[in-house]
This record gives sequence, C-alpha cells and structure tokens, in this order.
Amino acid sequence: MSWRYTYCPKCGCDRCFTVKAVPDEAVVRGKKISFIRKDCFCEICGTEVYSKVINDENCDARLAAYGEDNSPTKYTVEFTSTVEVEAKDSVEAVEKAQEMFSHDSMYIYVDGNLWS
Ligand SMILES: [Zn+2]
Repeated sequence: MSWRYTYCPKCGCDRCFTVKAVPDEAVVRGKKISFIRKDCFCEICGTEVYSKVINDENCDARLAAYGEDNSPTKYTVEFTSTVEVEAKDSVEAVEKAQEMFSHDSMYIYVDGNLWS
C-alpha cells in the first residue's frame, strides 16, 4: 500500500489523500517561527485526515525553520530582579539570567510569561 493512503474517519476506510501546503507559525522554545505546514484531505470526501508521513514532514519543517533562525533575540527575564539578555531562544535566556544571578527562583518570567 502506498504511503499516500490513510484512514478517513468519514469514509470509514483507507483513502488516497491530497496535500495542501499552508503557511503556518509556531512558537518553539519561546521563539516564533514561520514554516510551511502540510494538511491532508481525503480525495473522495474532502475530510481532513491524519498521515504519519506528512506529520513527520511537518515536524521536520518546523525544526528546520527553528534551526535556520539563529539570530539572538532579546528576552526580559524576571525572577527576584529583572534582566535583559540576548539569547537564541528562551531556554538559553533563562540559563544566562540564572548565571548572572548565581541563584535560582521558584518563579521565573520570560517576557512577562511564567516560565516552567
Ligand atoms: Zn473520506
């Protein structure tokens, strides 16, 4: 069976599907990225269907977009004090801020959002 077949819940059987490319945005480790997402639709009834192959491709596209953008971004990190750091993502920003303060805190905020 070709990978271009997948189960369609509406038809109740495996169907050939068509792929539509959709510009999408996502936030990965606190960084906004743009990439092209692929959506799959049943060729017979047009219902959106899930394909593992296409889903993997979407993950790869997201990772590639994240990897391409290595420019440092400015993050505001707050715990007991507020500090502005330049980092490639929010994880690195928090690490840098923790080094500066040489201590940890229960509550860390990055750009005003609680960091977990
Ligand atoms: Zn269908």
